Amino acid sequence: LLLAYDPARRLARLQVNLERAVVNARMIYEILDEEPTQGDRPGAGVLVVDRAGIEFRGVSFEYGHGVPVLDDVSFTAEAGKTTAIVGPSGAGKSTLISLVPRFYDPASGQLLIDGVDIATVTKKSLRQQIAYVSQQPWLFEGTIRDNLRYARPSATDAEIEEAARLANAHEFILAQPLGYDTPLGENGANLSGGQRQRISIARALVRDAPILLLDEATSALDNESEAAVQKALESAMRNRTVLVIAHRLSTIARADKIVVMQAGRVVQAGSHADLTASRDGLYARLQAISEVPAPQPKSGEGPGADV
Ligand code: ATP
Repeated sequence: LLLAYDPARRLARLQVNLERAVVNARMIYEILDEEPTQGDRPGAGVLVVDRAGIEFRGVSFEYGHGVPVLDDVSFTAEAGKTTAIVGPSGAGKSTLISLVPRFYDPASGQLLIDGVDIATVTKKSLRQQIAYVSQQPWLFEGTIRDNLRYARPSATDAEIEEAARLANAHEFILAQPLGYDTPLGENGANLSGGQRQRISIARALVRDAPILLLDEATSALDNESEAAVQKALESAMRNRTVLVIAHRLSTIARADKIVVMQAGRVVQAGSHADLTASRDGLYARLQAISEVPAPQPKSGEGPGADV
C-alpha cells in the first residue's frame, strides 16, 4: 500500500505494534496463569465445557475514553470450527478476542460458551479452556522444555514431545545442542522466526484446550518456514473451536466462517464464497485495497500473502 510510506502513518503503526506486543505478553501470561484472583463474582461457578461453542451477544466495549471500540457485536463461533476475524486496522479485532479469556469485560452484552455467560464463572476455570498463539511468540529464558511445559505444568515429557511433533518442531529441537534441554536466549533469540512460532504453537498443543485464540502473524517468513508453520497451525486448529485474527488468504479461505469488522461493528459474516459473491460489501473492498488478499486460483496460492 502506498500509504504505508507516509512517515506519520508509519509512526502511528509502530506505536500500535508496540502496544500490541505488550498486550500479547500480558494476555499469554494471564491466560496461562493458574490463579487469576481478580474479578470473579461472588459465588462464581466453574465453567464446564462440552463442545466449546462461543457466542457474542450484543457485546459493546470501550477502553474508558468514551469511544466505543466494540458496538453491539453479535456472532457465533461454532464448536470445533474455525471462525476468521478480518477487517481494517483499528476495527477492534484484537479487542474482540481479548474478551474471550476475560482480559476485559464487556460494558454491555454477553459472551457465552456452550450457552453459559462467562461473566458468571471463575476466570481460572474459563482460562483453563483456552490456548492463545500470538503474532509475536513470547518465550522466556528457560529451556525449550520449560517453555513448552509452562502451558500445562502437569504435562509429561512424552506429551511435550508429542505436541512438538504435531507442531513440526521436534526435528529442529533435537538438532539443538541439548535438544529439549537447550536453554533459549532472551525471547528465543537463538531460534529463527519460524522456529519461535512453532514453539509457540507446540505450547498451545501442550495446553490441549478446546478453544484456540490465534493472532496470525503478518511478518513474512521464507517459504520453507512458512509451510512448516502452516502445517503446525493445521494440527493445532484441528477439532478445536478456533477464533483467528486472519491476514492470509489461505487461512481466510479455509475458515468455516468469516466475520468482517469495521469500526467496532460486524458488517458482514459468512463463508468466503458467500462474502466474495457480495461484490459491494466491505470484504470485497478490502480485497480490492489488499487489506485482505484477493482470491487466487488454488494452484497459484503460494504460502499466503502478507498484508
Ligand atoms: P490491528 O489490525 O491494527 O491490530 P484491530 O482491529 O485489532 O487493529 P484493536 O487493536 O482491537 O483493533 O483496536 C481497536 C481500537 O481500540 C483502536 O482505536 C485502538 O487504538 C484502541 N485500543 C486498542 N487497545 C487499546 C488499549 N489497550 N487502550 C486504549 N485503546 C486501545
